Amino acid sequence: MTFNELAESVDDVLTRSKAAGCTKWITVGTDAEHNEQAVKLAQKYENLYAALGIHPHHASEYQPGHLQRLVELIGGGKVVAIGETGLDFHYNFSKQDAQRDLFKRLLEIASLCRLPVIIHSRNALDETMQIIEKCADKMTKFVFHCWSGTIDETRAIINKGFYISFTGIITFKNGDIARECVKTVPLERMMIETDCPYMSPEPMRKQKINEPALLIHTAKKIAELKGVDLETLAEQLEINTKEFFGI
Ligand SMILES: [Zn+2]
Repeated sequence: MTFNELAESVDDVLTRSKAAGCTKWITVGTDAEHNEQAVKLAQKYENLYAALGIHPHHASEYQPGHLQRLVELIGGGKVVAIGETGLDFHYNFSKQDAQRDLFKRLLEIASLCRLPVIIHSRNALDETMQIIEKCADKMTKFVFHCWSGTIDETRAIINKGFYISFTGIITFKNGDIARECVKTVPLERMMIETDCPYMSPEPMRKQKINEPALLIHTAKKIAELKGVDLETLAEQLEINTKEFFGI
């Protein structure tokens, strides 16, 4: 919600979202500037919450002051998670060592502040798991977001007791593996999200700017894949999300 594509029309985005049945939101920070904006939005809108993090893509740019500020922002309230954080060895936009270092620091903050964590992990699951094992408090909860891994990786995440969150990818023509992953994840461990402004689900993929109102299409596809009705799915996903983030 803090990206330019949506930030200028948050009122309208939320109105359309409510009409589509989605009435609480978490906007996710990806760098120092987005974290500031996320908290401002959370303060302005009643049912909107913030997650604060620095995306692995930005690991090379981060400065210790950014993390100090992040902790300050947590103290201001309505921050419900740390994230995005993790490792992206697919794009490698930041050096891998910088990604590891930042990920560890954010996990420490999550442990200290007792917040759950939204993980971005691409082509790096083994190491993501090792760092979690080593650096996170045992009580910390994790959701692997915008999931597009393999079936084996999906099983490994579920076996650890973590959650998996799906986006419009599972509706894409080339999303066969992601759809198999949906079938693998128990409903009790699943979440859905937009990853907006990216990843508009089919049949709205042509809509370049994704937004929460389109989440319904991802939900319908998951209901179909799991063989449950949409209401049952929505109820369970709502329970999972509220419990996980404490909202
Ligand atoms: Zn991500």
